[in-house]
This record gives sequence, C-alpha cells and structure tokens, in this order.
Amino acid sequence: MPLVLYNTLTRKLEEFTPLVEGAASMYTCGPTVYNFFHIGNARSFVMSDVIRRYLEYRGYDVNFVMNITDVDDRIIKQAIDEGIDASAVAGKYTDAFLEDIARLGIRPATANPRATDNIEGIVSHIERLIAAGAAYTVEGDVYFRVSAFPAYGKLSGKRLEDLQAGARVDADSRKEQPGDFALWKTAKPGEPSWPSPWGAGRPGWHIECSVMSQKYLGDSFDIHAGGNDLIFPHHENEIAQSEALTHTPLARTWLHFGFLNIDNEKMSKSLGNFFTARDILSMYSAETLRFFYLQTHYRSPLNFSDDGLDAAAKGLQKLQGLYDQLLTAPDGEGIFDVGPWEQRFIAAVDQDMNTPAGFGVLFECARDANGLLRSDVGMTANAKAALRDFLRRSALGVFGVLHETETARADSSQIGALMDLLIAVRAKARADKQWGLSDFIRDGLKDIGLALEDGKAGTTWKRADNA
Ligand code: AMP
Ligand code: ZN
Repeated sequence: MPLVLYNTLTRKLEEFTPLVEGAASMYTCGPTVYNFFHIGNARSFVMSDVIRRYLEYRGYDVNFVMNITDVDDRIIKQAIDEGIDASAVAGKYTDAFLEDIARLGIRPATANPRATDNIEGIVSHIERLIAAGAAYTVEGDVYFRVSAFPAYGKLSGKRLEDLQAGARVDADSRKEQPGDFALWKTAKPGEPSWPSPWGAGRPGWHIECSVMSQKYLGDSFDIHAGGNDLIFPHHENEIAQSEALTHTPLARTWLHFGFLNIDNEKMSKSLGNFFTARDILSMYSAETLRFFYLQTHYRSPLNFSDDGLDAAAKGLQKLQGLYDQLLTAPDGEGIFDVGPWEQRFIAAVDQDMNTPAGFGVLFECARDANGLLRSDVGMTANAKAALRDFLRRSALGVFGVLHETETARADSSQIGALMDLLIAVRAKARADKQWGLSDFIRDGLKDIGLALEDGKAGTTWKRADNA
C-alpha cells in the first residue's frame, strides 16, 4: 500500500510517487532568524522532520533542505532594538535555531542554505525574470509582474482579479498592479545591502526560496512544506517566480501544517501570545513536546495548554516503560508476533501521515505486549528483541518520542565485560582457596538469573532460564 498525502495544490489525497524511484526530495521553509522561535514554529519544524523520518523509514533516500531567512525587515528592526547590526542579529539567532532544533530531536537537514550566501543566484534569477518580461524595475526596486503568470493563484485558490482589486494588498503607486510583489528592495541608509544591476539593495523574502530550492533540489522536486500561513502569499509567489522561468511544476506535492493555537488564536510573535521552544524545553522533554504535537493530525489546529503537555508526558511513560522493560525483563516462553503490528502501523501512517492513528496502533500493541510480559509465560528473548526493534524504528526512529535509558545504554558488550570480570574474581578466589567467596559469587549471580558453568576450557555464563 502506498503513502498517500493531501496536496494543497490539487486539494486531493494523492499517492506519493517520487520523481526518482526510491528517492524523495523535500524543501521546507525555515525560520526568519530575528528571535528565538516559538512552539508554533516548532510544530511545523517537527512535522517536517517526522515526514522526512517516515519517508526514510519507508525506504526512500531523502534529500531534505530547510532554508534560513537571514535578511528581512524583521531582522533589521530587531537589530535597531538590540543596538547591534543586522548580520549579528541573524548570526546569533541562526546559532540559537540550530541549537534548538537539535534539542527538539530534529535530524540535521541535508542542507540549511542561507539567503545571504545566495545573493548572486538571486540577482541572476531576477535578471532572467526581467528578461522574460515577468518582472520590472522601479527606481532600484524590482517587482514581479503577476499578470505575466496566468496560473497565479493556483495554489491558494485566489483569483487574480480579486487580488488586483483587493483592499488587503496595499496600494503602492510604484507598482503596475496592486498584486505585484517585491523581488529586490533598494537599500535605505544603514540597512544591509548587496550590489546589483539596479543599485545596492537586498532580496525580497519569496525569491530566496525559489532560488535555493532550485539550487539544491532542481527545477522540480517532490515535496514542499510549511505552515498554513505560507500558502499565500509566500508559496504562491514562489511558484510564480520559479515556474515563470522553468515552465515545470516547482513541487509536485504541497503540504501545509495547521497552526498551534493558544486560546483558539494562532500563536505568533506579533500577537505576543507565544512561548519559545527554549522555555518549554526547560520544563518538558523534547519527546513530550513531540508526542503532544503528533497526537493531532498535522492539518488540524492544535490548542496549546499545560494540561495537554502534562497528559502527553504521562501517556508517553507507558511506551517508554515498555521500551525499557523489554531490555530488562527475564526471558520467558511467550511468542509475540510483531509483524502484523508493523503492517498496521504503516497502514495507519500511510494515510496522509496520520500520526494519531499510528500512535493508536503503538499503544494497542504496547497493551498486548505488557499483558504478556507480566503474565507467567513472559516473552521469549527473540520476541522481546523484535518488539524492541520495531519500537526503536517507529516510536523512536519515526516519531522521536522515546529515548535510550541508562539501562539500555549498558549494552550487551558491557554486561559481557562485567561478567568476565566477575568470573576472573571468582577464579582468583578459587586459586586462593577462598571457597566461601567463590560460592558467594556463583549463588549471587544465580539469584539474578545468571548461571556459571565450569568446564575444561574455563568458566562460562548463561542466562539461568536457558541453562
Ligand atoms: P517564520 O519564522 O515566521 O517564517 O515561520 C517559520 C515556520 O513556522 C513557517 O513554516 C510558519 O508557517 C510556521 N508557523 C508560524 N506560526 C505557527 C503556528 N502558530 N503554528 C504552526 N506553525 C507556525
Ligand atoms: Zn519559503
């Protein structure tokens, strides 16, 4: 059964068929680095990460690119507020972003290109748009000519006529049409700027994603993702800027994430109703926060609350507890066939990344497994290992909601080394005729389920159940 995704562009659920068999290319709009990001942004970043991890779990070789917007009006404003220059603001919050996404368990992207490292490519893309009649200059600014791209509006469903007449697009007399948007902005004194054929200036926000996605993923790639607020104008404009030159679909599947709300209002910097990911991670684990997000489908809104996070922390203990126990529980006789559970897990998540349904399967599986583990028969060593491997690849590998505890880290090689040491101590005791100490070691190990066997070649050990 194939993975099915809801494509904003076609407004349909579609089978995921990548451009190159066995590979998947994905671009996610990253942060504008003017401050620490909040847990609303984090929901979108985590969701991108989980899609990437799931594609890998399903066997795709994933090329995952997330840009960093490091030149923008908001960065310039923050620089004035902090009394430092704009590049210092961007540098500081880029570092903070990379630190925080690592703490959130987000796997490193294949590339995190920055707008300021791609100015040359941006300038040349704009030059080509001007040459193609899709852009025009006005006193050092360059605008995209929306009327030159008849498909404008295909992603958001907005009609060009409505946009041109719309009151929400601020009337700028310098533009030919109100719906036209900036590709290049002439620099005001003190603002960061780069030379260009139109004078010193800086790129608009949308153009950087067209240029960087093309540079790293080609004219056409599989998945483009971001929060719902990016559908219009950001992604609509990316399509126009790219496709006006390439005449091929920029991305085949467009995925958009629902908002994290607070009191049913979008969490956002401008409304001031936000918590930074940093602050929340000082109170809750990354695993808890991820589980809190993933219990809701990515397209649905999710309301933030402390109670929700507390409940997530509590719920997760059951899965983590089982994961740890599978390592420490004694070997038993009970068979547990993990295969059908994995099939059900895949069938659930394949339905448009239905993470809540995926968790439903994992928790039902955990309930059954716990019942068997606690019964007299227990579980065979093989069954425990197979279930642990499934949880390691699903709950830990795809969702990132489990961690390896200290017990788990004490891997079999350490236990083996410890046993070798005890056997050596006992051999020394026997050589010294300290029979009491020798028996004390053997009996003590037997009590914890480990049996020593003295043979011609020396002493070996086994789990008592198998002895
Ligand atoms: P920004 O740094 O504002 O460009 O946002 C980075 C990412 O976070 C984008 O994909 C936004 O769509 C997303 N985003 C912003 N606010 C929220 C929110 N409240 N809930 C979910 N995603 C959000
Ligand atoms: Zn973007």
